[in-house]
Amino acid sequence: MGLSRLLFWGALIWVGLVLWRRWRAPSPRVPPQATPVRVVKCTECGVYVPESEARASGQGFICASH
Ligand SMILES: [Zn+2]
Repeated sequence: MGLSRLLFWGALIWVGLVLWRRWRAPSPRVPPQATPVRVVKCTECGVYVPESEARASGQGFICASH
């Protein structure tokens, strides 16, 4: 086996490794994100509640217990 042949195989293996790595890590996986819940502060008692449970009141929000 000549040196050129050895280099050829070395290059081939190297290219194969590079391609294999690219194939294995195609793109950074985006983790499944929970829908971000906006939290608002109750202007009456200062409690933080999800926006879906709060009610708009004047300048801010009030929680369900008001
Ligand atoms: Zn409140």
